[in-house]
Amino acid sequence: MKIPHNLLSFLKQEDDFFIATHINPEGDALGSSIALSMALETLGKKTLVYDRDPVPNYYRFLPGHERLIHSSGGIETSAFNLLLLDCNTPDRAGIEALEFRSSAVIDHHETEKEFGNIKWVEPHAAATGMMIFFLIKELGTPITKEIALNLYTALAIDTGTFRYDKTTAEVLKVASELVEAGAKPSLVSNGLYETWSEQRFRLLIMSLNTIEIRENVAFTAVTNEMFQQTGTSAEDTENFSGFPRMMQNVVVSAFFRQISDNEWKVSLRSKGDVNVAQIAALFGGGGHKNAAGFKIKGTLETAKEKLLHHITGTK
Ligand code: 5GP
Ligand code: MN
Repeated sequence: MKIPHNLLSFLKQEDDFFIATHINPEGDALGSSIALSMALETLGKKTLVYDRDPVPNYYRFLPGHERLIHSSGGIETSAFNLLLLDCNTPDRAGIEALEFRSSAVIDHHETEKEFGNIKWVEPHAAATGMMIFFLIKELGTPITKEIALNLYTALAIDTGTFRYDKTTAEVLKVASELVEAGAKPSLVSNGLYETWSEQRFRLLIMSLNTIEIRENVAFTAVTNEMFQQTGTSAEDTENFSGFPRMMQNVVVSAFFRQISDNEWKVSLRSKGDVNVAQIAALFGGGGHKNAAGFKIKGTLETAKEKLLHHITGTK
């Protein structure tokens, strides 16, 4: 991984950074942002870490999660340099209305748009956390135990806990270094996988019960009514889309989360060479080859039909 020189000099020369990441943050977004904030502060910089949405409960084991702010009210953002992490357009972070002194993008998503005075995009990186690890090493600040735990979580989430395609020898070497630096894998997996609320589990059951399998595509959905019945919210559905992929005959899993009466957020997961980032892009979304998302308007049935049509058209 080659870190652009202009990014390094930008980080060294400037003093005030507004680190922002995508809405509905997950482990890579949070871990990368917190770790970079910690490293820059060691260099004497001022940082703000912003996410439009709250930190999900099950990520509150991350040291430094309380750094996250969710409103830019009262902040003179034009005095700050934006560091946009784990996404590459301001609208993915909900900050399109804000102005900054300058901006740099650090991301590993395939679907790239033109934004940022400085861009460091590595579509082959398993996680933004990998990029932040090498960046911190290059900046020469220590990988503290807190940083290690954040970056290990970033890697763990984006590799499906070291199971997906992008789990390379390099990823495992970095993970090993992070463990040496104090990240405890069992603490992370306990935090991620063994701390669900009962309501979240009941929501998963409801979601799985909606399953419909057509042409190797598994459809599941969560409606607003289900959120109400279980007392849960959007953050509780993270990775629900992953479960149907357990079935041998399922090549694409499409999970629909209701946003409003007539709008759905779709999470796609695929196996092997089926590129769901391309499919999501057809609907104005994006992501990675095997994990992507987009929003769609219409009834659940028409949305499913449209998606199936495009999947069978590109397979
Ligand atoms: P998830 O399904 O977990 O929400 O997202 C899977 C991947 O797709 C993540 O890398 C996420 O950043 C990306 N993604 C999800 N929804 C969207 C979207 O609406 N637009 C774009 N550009 N990427 C998305
Ligand atoms: Mn990521």
